[in-house]
Amino acid sequence: MNYLFTPPATVAVPVVGETAQFPVHRIYCVGRNYEEHAKEMGFTGREPPFFFLKPADALIVVPAGDTGEQPYPSLTHNFHHEIELVVAIGTGGKNIQAADAMKHIYGYAVGLDMTRRDLQNEMKKQGRPWCIGKAFDHSAPIGPITPVAQAGDVAQAEIALDVNGQVRQISTVSKLIWNIAETIEHLSAAWELQAGDLIYTGTPEGVAAVVPGDVLTGHVAGLGSLSVKIV
Ligand code: MN
Repeated sequence: MNYLFTPPATVAVPVVGETAQFPVHRIYCVGRNYEEHAKEMGFTGREPPFFFLKPADALIVVPAGDTGEQPYPSLTHNFHHEIELVVAIGTGGKNIQAADAMKHIYGYAVGLDMTRRDLQNEMKKQGRPWCIGKAFDHSAPIGPITPVAQAGDVAQAEIALDVNGQVRQISTVSKLIWNIAETIEHLSAAWELQAGDLIYTGTPEGVAAVVPGDVLTGHVAGLGSLSVKIV
């Protein structure tokens, strides 16, 4: 193929215990998927799941044991952390039923859905798309992917985030409003999932602002940890 300019490289995430990396197709994100976070955002109840996307090249890939650099983005004065369990799809499909969903999963990772909250809130107020608040450059730090067989019981795992050593968010994945299988069912009714898709499954309560110099360390039990420094 003869291109006008060099095509962008495929974004890929390292895999625990593998030399081959996981090539990323799309990043789907679930909104308000823990009850206590929905409440702190001003909502209650079990609404149908809803989704937004981030571009694959918004990932900040942080190898095991490293601290990634998270640039403080432009235009915001209220830059929030959201610690999330990330599901890595290994086998695509559409209209996947929840009962069949788990076999489509390759593995799991720890991710941060970084958010320009002031811009997101302004877009919400005006009924406009969230892209500027959610889908900006470097908005999706992620740690290595742990294959399902080595990940333990992720559905019951603790999920937590410290900022400068102080706990900001702590919950368990069992508190997801729409669990992993139900999320895949809903998502695959709207889009055909493909191998390489990542799903950020939502954040528990405790979201708050960070500033340059802050060090964020998140974990999901069984998946290791993810650290970034705001620069
Ligand atoms: Mn989120």
